[in-house]
Amino acid sequence: MSLIDLAAVYRARRAIAGRVTRTPLIPAFSLGDEHTEVRLKLETTQPTGAFKLRGAVNALANLSEEQLARGVVCASTGNHGRALAWGASQLGARATICMSSLVPQNKVEAIRALGADVRIHGRSQDEAQQLVDKLVAEQGMNEIPPFDHADVIAGQGTIGLEILEDWPEVDTLIIGLSGGGLLSGIALAAKAIKPDIRIIGVSPRRGAAMAASLQAGKPVEVEELETLADSLGGGIGLDNRYTYEHVSSLMDAYVLLEEREIAASMRHLYRHEQLVAEGASTLGAALLLEPERRREMGAKLGSKIAIIVSGRNVDMDAFTAVIDGSHSAWNSEDS
Ligand SMILES: *Cc1c(COP(=O)(O)O)cnc(C)c1O
Repeated sequence: MSLIDLAAVYRARRAIAGRVTRTPLIPAFSLGDEHTEVRLKLETTQPTGAFKLRGAVNALANLSEEQLARGVVCASTGNHGRALAWGASQLGARATICMSSLVPQNKVEAIRALGADVRIHGRSQDEAQQLVDKLVAEQGMNEIPPFDHADVIAGQGTIGLEILEDWPEVDTLIIGLSGGGLLSGIALAAKAIKPDIRIIGVSPRRGAAMAASLQAGKPVEVEELETLADSLGGGIGLDNRYTYEHVSSLMDAYVLLEEREIAASMRHLYRHEQLVAEGASTLGAALLLEPERRREMGAKLGSKIAIIVSGRNVDMDAFTAVIDGSHSAWNSEDS
């Protein structure tokens, strides 16, 4: 299989223009030092609070009237479902979002509020996916998956175009990684424009399916565990078609982070950058916060670093508990 090309990302940009926000890239002085400049790409400013709108809206734009009329369906940890529900409602199409019982209630409610049909099924993304397969087979709905789809990847890639336009000198991109649609899209666009740019992936150590897959040399399943980075939960699919290959050929370094570090990063971004960011979107900053991590990274970290702050859809009770230090996950040693 060959990789998706830059032309597809430019087509995606035209398709989503006007419906998806061109997000700001702001300096984060609290994360830099005399040798390092850090900027944050604020996907938190998307209308649905996360970057997933880019891929979902691009994929919807590529469906025919007849396909839209049969409805769209997906399995989601929350943000993709919300993006698909939003995009479908704009087009007057019916969306069915299948989620596991691990998805936080705030995300479930937000999706219902957009008029989508929400189905809770099983305790993992893989179990929710079984219901999607059934709806596709029995009702002819069109599946728009959260990451392993060419139009979704090309849509997420538009983030890479915007960063390189706003900051051509950037030398390092740090990207949260779960299924890998975000990293695949950004990396393919950024490396096509600037081949020596460094791509660093970050995932929570709890339930890191892409890490286990890269180590095994093929997609494998891992047990899905609760994490503060709930949007990074779920597997990569045993029949992965795109993201495994993109990630393995485009990513330069990969770091797994502890719950304690994710909590510290949420607090840091709140206190020092005045950002409400969900756990999944704070791993890039977490990597820069611990001197030990910075030393480990060594020359892999450049001096002009852009971090994707991928979403803001956090349950506010959980968020304030992390901020004031009372959240049960924040100081537990991960096991
Ligand atoms: C989905 C998501 C990610 C990871 O994207 P993948 O394409 O699954 O790797 C990161 N951050 C947030 C907020 C997300 O919703």
